[in-house]
Amino acid sequence: MQHFPIFVALAGRRVVLSGGGEAALAKLRLLLKTEAHLTVFAPEADAQIEAWHEAGRLRLVRRAMGPGDALCAVLFYAADEDPAEDARTVALARADGALTNIVDNLGDSQFITPAIVDRDPVTVAIGTEGAAPVLARAIKADLEARLPVTLGPLARIGKAFRRMAEALPMGRARRDFWSDYYFDAGPRAIAEGEDAAHEALDRLLDRHLARRDEPGEVAFVGAGPGDPELLTLKARRALDKADVVIHDRLVGPAILELARREALLVDAGKTGFGPSMSQAEIDALIVEHANAGAKVVRLKGGDPVVFARLDEEIAAVDAAGIDWHVIPGITAASASAAAIGQSLTKRGRNDDVRFMTGHDVKGLAEHDWRAIARTGEVTALYMGKRAARFVQGRLLMHGADPDTPVTVVENASLPAQRIVEATIGTLPDRVAAAELTGPALMLLGLAPRAGRPIALNPDAFLAEQEAL
Ligand code: SAH
Repeated sequence: MQHFPIFVALAGRRVVLSGGGEAALAKLRLLLKTEAHLTVFAPEADAQIEAWHEAGRLRLVRRAMGPGDALCAVLFYAADEDPAEDARTVALARADGALTNIVDNLGDSQFITPAIVDRDPVTVAIGTEGAAPVLARAIKADLEARLPVTLGPLARIGKAFRRMAEALPMGRARRDFWSDYYFDAGPRAIAEGEDAAHEALDRLLDRHLARRDEPGEVAFVGAGPGDPELLTLKARRALDKADVVIHDRLVGPAILELARREALLVDAGKTGFGPSMSQAEIDALIVEHANAGAKVVRLKGGDPVVFARLDEEIAAVDAAGIDWHVIPGITAASASAAAIGQSLTKRGRNDDVRFMTGHDVKGLAEHDWRAIARTGEVTALYMGKRAARFVQGRLLMHGADPDTPVTVVENASLPAQRIVEATIGTLPDRVAAAELTGPALMLLGLAPRAGRPIALNPDAFLAEQEAL
C-alpha cells in the first residue's frame, strides 16, 4: 500500500488552491462540501469561482501565487493546468509546509484525492493508486447504486441519537438496535421524511428496551457443500446476525468469513489441538451460548437434515426451552450429481433414490443390499471413503452387475473438486489410486454424463492446465 487512506478534519482549517480553470473548478466543487477555509490564487478565474467568492464561500486572490501564500495551509492543490506553473506553485506550498497535490499528476503528489461516494456523514473513499481509474469508477458507480441516498440523513439522525441508545446494554442489544434502524425501520421511515425517522428511533428504542431480557435462539443452518455461492440467502442472513457460530470441520474459511466480525467462531470439529468435541459437549456448548442470550448459528456442512446429528442437538436445545429453527442447505448428493451433470432420479431408470452412510455407530453400515444392487438404482453413499471394498463385496454378493457405474466426487463444488470414475468391479482399486483426502461422496449407479470433461470444475481445470 503506497498511499495510506485517512480522513482529514478540515473544518476551520486552511486549504489553498492555485488555478482558475476547469481542473480548479472540479476540485473546488469537492472541497466546497467541507468546512475548510478555501483560498484560490488565480490571475484569471472562471465565472463560477468569482461567484463563489462573491457569495463568501471561498476567497479568490486575483494574482499568481507567491512565497508565503500557503502558510498555515494543511493541504495545497496545484490546478494550474500547466506543468511549469504547477511545479513552481507546489515548490512554494511545500516551503510553506503544506501537503501538496498536483491535479492529474500522481507521481509528483504527496497525497491524492480518492473517488468519493458521498452519503455525508457516511463517506466511502475509493483509491487504486492510479492503477485503474476505470475500476475506481466502476466501484463508485456500483456503490452509488447500492447505498440509498437516504443513508446520509439516516446516519445523521442516528448519530444524534447515540446517547439515547446507550440505555441499551453494550454489545449485542445495542448492535441489534442499530442494525434494525439502519437496515429495516430507518429506511422505511425516512421514505416519509426525517420526522418519521426520529419517531421510528423512539419507537424502536422502546421495543428494544422491552426486548432486553429476551432469551437467545438457535438456528441450525446448512452451509452447503463448500462453494460459498451455494449458501442460501437465509443462511447468509443468519450468519450476518449471529453472535456465535458453532461449525463443523467441513465448513471452510470462505464461508466462515461471511460471519460478522464480532461473532465468536467455535470449531466443534476439534478443541484446541485435542480430539474432536463429543456430541454431548457440542450440545452443551450450543445450550450454554443460547442461554446467555446469544443468537447461535449451528453451522453444518451440506444440509443439517442429512447425516448431521440434528435430532440430538434439537433435543438438547428443546430440553433447555430455547427457540430454534432449521435453515436447509444443499446436500453433498445434490452438489455431486450436479458436478457430473446427472439427475439423482430419472423417469424409467429409478423412481427412488437412497442417501446412505458408509459407516454408522457400529462400524461399516448394513443396508438393504439386495435393493441397492438392482440395475438402475441410484444411491448416494456418504462417509464411504473407507467402505469401498465392503460396499463392493456386499453388492456383488447380492447379484449386482460388476459393470454398474460408480462415481466418487471429492470436494464437490470446491476448487479442489475431483471426480473418480469407476464401476462396482473397479471401485476399491480406483478409490485407492485416487488417494482421496477431502470429503467424498460415492454415487452408486451413476457415471458422469457422456461428453462432459472430467475436470468439471473450471478453477481446478485451469489450475491443471497451468501445472502442465
Ligand atoms: N450434512 C452433510 C453430510 C455430512 S456427513 C450434507 O448434507 O452434505 C459427511 C459426508 O458428507 C462426507 O463424508 C462426504 O461423504 C459428504 N460430503 C460433505 N461435503 C462434501 C463435498 N463437498 N463433496 C463430497 N462429499 C461431501
